[in-house]
Amino acid sequence: MKKTVLLAGVILFFTLPLTAQAPVDEGSPADTDLDWRVGVASIRITPENPLWMAGYANRDRPAEGTRHELFAKALALEDKDGRQALLITADIRNFPKNISDRIRDRLESDHGLTRKQIILNGSHTHTGPLMYTERNFPYYIDHLTDDHRERVIQYSNKLENELVELAGEALHAMEPVRIYSGQGFSRFAVNRRNNNESTIDQVTELAGPVDHSVPVLRVENGDGALKAVVFGYACHPTTLNDYKWSGDWPGVASLELEKANPGATALFFLGAAGDINPIPRRSGPLVEQYGREMAAAVQSVLDQPMRPLNSSLSMAYSEIDLPFNTPPDKEALVTLAETSDGKERNWAEFHLDQLEKNGSLPSSYPYPVQIWNLGDQPIVSLGGELVVDYAISIKRMLGHHTFVMGYSNDVMSYIPSVRILEEGGYEALRAQYIRALPGTWKPEIEVRILDEVLRLAQKTGVPQHVLPITQN
Ligand SMILES: [Zn+2]
Repeated sequence: MKKTVLLAGVILFFTLPLTAQAPVDEGSPADTDLDWRVGVASIRITPENPLWMAGYANRDRPAEGTRHELFAKALALEDKDGRQALLITADIRNFPKNISDRIRDRLESDHGLTRKQIILNGSHTHTGPLMYTERNFPYYIDHLTDDHRERVIQYSNKLENELVELAGEALHAMEPVRIYSGQGFSRFAVNRRNNNESTIDQVTELAGPVDHSVPVLRVENGDGALKAVVFGYACHPTTLNDYKWSGDWPGVASLELEKANPGATALFFLGAAGDINPIPRRSGPLVEQYGREMAAAVQSVLDQPMRPLNSSLSMAYSEIDLPFNTPPDKEALVTLAETSDGKERNWAEFHLDQLEKNGSLPSSYPYPVQIWNLGDQPIVSLGGELVVDYAISIKRMLGHHTFVMGYSNDVMSYIPSVRILEEGGYEALRAQYIRALPGTWKPEIEVRILDEVLRLAQKTGVPQHVLPITQN
């Protein structure tokens, strides 16, 4: 961690002015005008026909029933000057680049919304539908028949159409509201690299970094009733791995919040959860427990005074090239394809094919970085399976009140920190092969991402400061 912080600190020190953190005021409805406008829309997306599930490559059959219905939700907002933004969340494993790009292109042509105005965040439930990932489908999924491959493509196309419609519905349903922000805590997230799941019941002290914060946005209408709640957390929705559709703990939390607050829509976004799991896991009662714990944490924030947000929206988006270590040459790939089996052989054959088609392998990947400044509430939205080190660094740079989303707009693989790349393991190495990327990430990805976050923070008027290392 120290290295990351110092690195970020160095960039800050030389490039950006330091200012104090925005004061956090407590407010009541009377303090704030109804000068935001928000519209929400929700749709059930549980597949109706037998469909392959996402999450685990070794699945050998489609889903066999429903534990919880799956939903997609849209929240459209507009500030007092007419600037609009759109958040779409969904109980799916993720938004792959092909689907995300098409949805965002269509929202631009239908509603004039550009990339910076749209966040697509998949909850990463591992008991949701498999999505069609154009870049590499379906080489990493065992057992998928042609028929099921076709069904996945059809479902993905249908979902794309439904989400574009859903966005339109939310945009057309906007009404005057107040928006507040706040942060709570929940502690079921465990660093999965630093704790042994099989002996967790004997552990008296958990190890490794985590981000236990629960960021919450409260949207209330003119009479003070809760219209929508947006909440996040940095923990994989991997309590379950069975064959029943479920939104996992975020799905349960959303259902519980909507039950406790009739008329309100609950939208969940996933944070920097790359190396974090709910532990222990793998049972129905546990998913209910974690979902209710999360709902209770969010409700506790809603029931306390929250910070009213001024009606001003500033947004920025960019894609930066994250470099891979040098991909193997043709000769090395041929040797690997001949001498290996299983996933290694698949990987070598996939890249030989890419070489044949394109003449070379990509040396980098276009990575989405985005910031919304919502009335002095910074929301940093990053792509990929972001590990928790990024949330910790970003909060040091922009303040602990910052909301950090991972898994936004495109999920290409894990996004490890320098620390994790040095340590090795699944998130640093093996995942790159499973996701059919041509190599491991170069260590400079961390500084490139953090540097871009700072650049966009400056662009959107988010004050920057470095907290002392001892203060974490
Ligand atoms: Zn994951």
